[in-house]
Amino acid sequence: AKLAGRNRAVEYRSEFDANAVERLQLVRHLRDALDNGEFTVLFQPQFGCDGRPLGIEALVRWQHPVRGLLAPAEFIGACEESGLMQQLGRQVLLEAASHHVRLVEAGLSGLRIAVNVSAAQFTEELYTDVEYVVRTLALPRGALELELTESAVMQSPEHAITLMQRLADLGVCFSIDDFGTGYSSLAYLKRFPIDRLKIDRSFVQDLDRNAQDAAICRSIIELAKSLDIGTVAEGVETVQQERWLRDHGCVALQGYLFGRPQRFDALLDDLRARGVE
Ligand code: C2E
Ligand code: CA
Ligand code: CA
Ligand code: CA
Repeated sequence: AKLAGRNRAVEYRSEFDANAVERLQLVRHLRDALDNGEFTVLFQPQFGCDGRPLGIEALVRWQHPVRGLLAPAEFIGACEESGLMQQLGRQVLLEAASHHVRLVEAGLSGLRIAVNVSAAQFTEELYTDVEYVVRTLALPRGALELELTESAVMQSPEHAITLMQRLADLGVCFSIDDFGTGYSSLAYLKRFPIDRLKIDRSFVQDLDRNAQDAAICRSIIELAKSLDIGTVAEGVETVQQERWLRDHGCVALQGYLFGRPQRFDALLDDLRARGVE
């Protein structure tokens, strides 16, 4: 038994080492990828209940030279842990916001461009980056939205309120992403300069079959109304979900039913084909 135990320990150890080596390799590749400009963004539209487009969310992808287009699940965690998130976030912000001028040219100047910000990015450096982007691209107020998670703002709420207010002064608006999955303090919620709550896909998914999920969606929509802010439902895939959300007063909808994340040009073509110009 002693021997088996030792063997097992050895096995664990080498497995752990293999993971550590893979991890280090990934971080090295991520550094190169950042230097080589291998990250790109796709855009997914958000529509109001009257069918008008309200915004587009930028979702990062790694255009890997060998493995093809990789989703954030493959690399965001490693970026956060290795301190590379700031640099990746800066590239995403700049690329996403740089499309604003194309929206204006297409007669869609009212659309917001939403960018995800992870807790690791929610620092003074973010302010510097946003200020730079807003100034160099001359973004009008309301053109840029930052999607923050509950954990990003609740880690240090007083600090978050100050930082958000300063960003809001630059014309940035805010949504709380994956709302309902973390634990926000309602007392703080009303003190944050928040424009919208995004209802997490996990609640939208079974909305029309699961009474508890429906109750959660209903209370998020009511909460937002009482705070006088908007709601966006994530991951809307069926007309049943669309109808339910519309009937219950959700302000905006986003999901495969309306459009997958896609290249900016393809998204513009799509919006034109819908006759919105
Ligand atoms: P999220 O912000 O909650 O984004 C929604 C995710 O759901 C996206 O996955 C999107 O492609 C996917 N999605 C949208 N509509 C549907 C639908 O109808 N059905 C289903 N099944 N999925 C849908 P994606 O692009 O893989 O991104 C995953 C997460 O990675 C995001 O979750 C966000 O937390 C993070 N992320 C993405 N881009 C960035 C970024 O630029 N910066 C940071 N910090 N995080 C990012
Ligand atoms: Ca998001
Ligand atoms: Ca989500
Ligand atoms: Ca998220």
